[in-house]
Amino acid sequence: MSEGRVVVVGAGIVGTAIARALARDGHHVIVVDGRPVGSGATAAGMGHIPVMDDSEPQFALSRYSQTLWDELSERLPASVEFDRCGTLWVAADDEEMVEIDRKKRFYDERGLPSDVLDSRALLREEPNLRPGLAGGLVLPRDQVVYPPCAARFLLDEALSMGSEARIGTPVVAIEGHGVRLANGEQIEADAVVNAAGWHAATLTPGLEIRPRKGHLIITDRYPGYLRHQVLELGYLKSAHGSDRDSVAFNVQPRRTGQVLLGSSRQYDISDPKVDRPILERMVKRALEYMPTLSRLSAIRVWTGFRAATPDSLPIIGPHPEHPGLFLATGHEGLGISTSLGTAELIAAQVGGRTSPIPPEPYWPARLMTVTPHV
Ligand SMILES: Cc1cc2nc3c(=O)[nH]c(=O)nc-3n(C[C@H](O)[C@H](O)[C@H](O)COP(=O)(O)OP(=O)(O)OC[C@H]3O[C@@H](n4cnc5c(N)ncnc54)[C@H](O)[C@@H]3O)c2cc1C
Repeated sequence: MSEGRVVVVGAGIVGTAIARALARDGHHVIVVDGRPVGSGATAAGMGHIPVMDDSEPQFALSRYSQTLWDELSERLPASVEFDRCGTLWVAADDEEMVEIDRKKRFYDERGLPSDVLDSRALLREEPNLRPGLAGGLVLPRDQVVYPPCAARFLLDEALSMGSEARIGTPVVAIEGHGVRLANGEQIEADAVVNAAGWHAATLTPGLEIRPRKGHLIITDRYPGYLRHQVLELGYLKSAHGSDRDSVAFNVQPRRTGQVLLGSSRQYDISDPKVDRPILERMVKRALEYMPTLSRLSAIRVWTGFRAATPDSLPIIGPHPEHPGLFLATGHEGLGISTSLGTAELIAAQVGGRTSPIPPEPYWPARLMTVTPHV
């Protein structure tokens, strides 16, 4: 199919990135969202754009996407706050330094620059870290953006190429070749992309997605307090670990001088209310790594929901049973990072082109319970 009419459900960072890529390829795109642009998980996310090493498919997608963010960076408006601040992974002890060495080898073998820091170099790079930590690894090319403004920019680009946005009326069903809106209106299309974040499963039954709640805190402005996005090595364990609630030290410098502090993970809670006990655990963990954070004043706390999949990979590609329906969801804590790569995969599939990276690891069929035909 080429240059057809495509409905994209969801104007988060994933849906808006897809709309832009499809519009660039000559499709007529209609983006539909019941809520304001970028106001779902996208508004709650940290906006860290790392290259991850937890699995080959995650590496492939995050690396490809980071390259795309790099290419786009020249054109991003100031509101997107693009910052190539780099990531600093912190090792607390010698045992964790072994993991730093493994990480370093992983990135070396794949041609990505990274620098190992010993205990003293770590403090030179980030003087607010607690003395006595074993060391760390810097990935200097990692980036940060302000996600809701990035989504707005991507949608504006799509609109400038002839797309339409229908914001304020949710989709109640994806049926046949099109969608039905809550006001009864039917929009016909050659293809539909379900990019409704963690709500995607309500429109496409059989998707294995669970909401995973997260808390973030933002401080007042303290320019120069932090230089890199700094994470403890245990972050990945928390991101991919068991069903138990978890916290991990994760701080980010904002262009405004503010410090964004995360993060927590809780499964199967749909109440967005701030959970004090988990917030206290998160702050306690952060103070163990960066005690001077206690001198900063926090101005806001919020929560959001990641769309988690059983194998920690996103769901990107054609529905196994419904021709013309494509899925782009399940990005958990990496949807800002991998939105641009996801968009290129979907654009290639909708357009019948070869995918820019192997698409199979992300195919929906791997996780879907397909309903038998009677
Ligand atoms: C605390 C926290 C920290 C995070 N930090 C990072 C990070 O540092 N880096 C990173 O890469 N990712 C991070 N993430 C993850 C990232 O925010 C998400 O993966 C990403 O925003 C997902 O984007 P999305 O467009 O798929 O979903 P969403 O932003 O949720 O967008 C989905 C849209 O679909 C709409 N929708 C839903 N149902 C319907 C319907 N029936 N009809 C019409 N529209 C509908 C919603 O209104 C919403 O606007 C974080 C997430 C959280 C919660």
